[in-house]
Amino acid sequence: TPVAMDTIVALAKRRGFVFQGSEIYGGLANTWDYGPLGVELRRNIKNAWWHFFVQLRRDIVGLDGSILLHPRAWEASGHVDEFNDPLVDCRNCQTRYRADNLIEERLGRNVDGATIEEMTRVIKESNLACPVCGQRDWTEVRQFNLMFRTFLGPVEASGTQAFLRPETAQAIFLDYRNVLQSSRVKIPFGIAQIGKAFRNEITPGNFIFRLLEFEQMEIEYFIRPEGWEPVFEEWLDAMQAFFRFIGLGEARLRQREHGPDELSHYSKRTVDFEYEFPFGWKELCGLAYRTDFDLRRHQEYSGVDLTYFDQATGERFLPHVVEPTMGVERLMLALMVDAYHEEDAVDVAGKPYRRVVLRFHPRMAPYKAAVLPLMKKPELVAKANEVWDLLRPEFPTDYDETQSIGRRYRRQDEIGTPFCVTIDYDTLEDDSVTIRDRDSMEQVRVPIAELVPTLRERLER
Ligand code: ATP
Repeated sequence: TPVAMDTIVALAKRRGFVFQGSEIYGGLANTWDYGPLGVELRRNIKNAWWHFFVQLRRDIVGLDGSILLHPRAWEASGHVDEFNDPLVDCRNCQTRYRADNLIEERLGRNVDGATIEEMTRVIKESNLACPVCGQRDWTEVRQFNLMFRTFLGPVEASGTQAFLRPETAQAIFLDYRNVLQSSRVKIPFGIAQIGKAFRNEITPGNFIFRLLEFEQMEIEYFIRPEGWEPVFEEWLDAMQAFFRFIGLGEARLRQREHGPDELSHYSKRTVDFEYEFPFGWKELCGLAYRTDFDLRRHQEYSGVDLTYFDQATGERFLPHVVEPTMGVERLMLALMVDAYHEEDAVDVAGKPYRRVVLRFHPRMAPYKAAVLPLMKKPELVAKANEVWDLLRPEFPTDYDETQSIGRRYRRQDEIGTPFCVTIDYDTLEDDSVTIRDRDSMEQVRVPIAELVPTLRERLER
């Protein structure tokens, strides 16, 4: 069974992964800040993604588009009309629900593809009680657009309405022509982008699972109009390979095909990768075949020719796209849940205790090593600082000289540091240190001169 959510939230706060946003003002609901360890974990996720999908591949290039796009772009993309969730309020206690979720969770009925009138009828006819107050007085179900609105220009009324992007993908379509003209890419090729996206979710929650502000890692992979099926399969495999690359266990991962009623307005086929979170199997990320929907619409709305000329065949066509999309925060949460282990152990003084350890893949661990002087004595501290100076340019390295060595090991276990490097009195004599392995808790003695290559070799094992 997965770890309880409260345990993860408490550890995340205690150790500096995730803090409540605006906490000193009483918090702003559903906003979170990433502390010293959280920011490293996020960077590791994004760097691994970029390394795996951009640097290692021949056919993908990067982009960093802006968050604000021309308002027409969101009309063309269909988001102004289609990017809605059905909303319903309890008239008695004013609690607001996503109607489809409410019906699914309370009545066990799937209403994907149902109209708002149908959902209103289902709620009325089943005499559904409000989960909060128990009353049965509901508003009509209505559509609620998830895009955050803002204004360009000084006065709200006269300024132009603009949207914070609800997905990063659209900037890729807007810049597709610039990329074609400025680089040597040839179909099939992809454009990759990492960046913030914003959604005014009706029911955010489950810690960092459903946020108002989050970060996406998306690729639009441009292909010929025919023969998308094998490309789709290749991308399913590539995504699976990426999970292995970052050490996300397969036991809590599964694929789920979207039903015809459930597909987004732009998609012909979508497969979600679901992860077994403490609150159940939920979407981690997805793969969608968006056809030529986006390019076709942008071509129509902008009046700019977005066709691709194939030199080899002399054909001109609008490319289709396959889109793998991942959320940084959902991956972060899955990695923390996956890494979390508790076990009975015995400390350095021979006392049994409950050991909490985050078994991150070394690639994901915020710190790769921690330098610990056995005691806070000037000679040991001075030597430990020398070793810390030696390691910092090589890998993110922590240093800790407070409390007993046992407690410091526990702290490093809890933040998932693969190796502790301990400096003791023998070090002053023989210039060797002890390396303690997070997972096996085995200790080996290594000369300081060999410390960097030894750690490097073990981290890459
Ligand atoms: P859901 O069904 O959970 O609302 P979605 O199908 O709307 O998600 P997509 O539009 O496919 O999500 O977005 C792509 C990815 O972006 C998701 O797989 C997820 O990793 C991430 N994501 C989407 N919405 C949020 C959110 N509100 N908070 C955090 N991550 C999100």
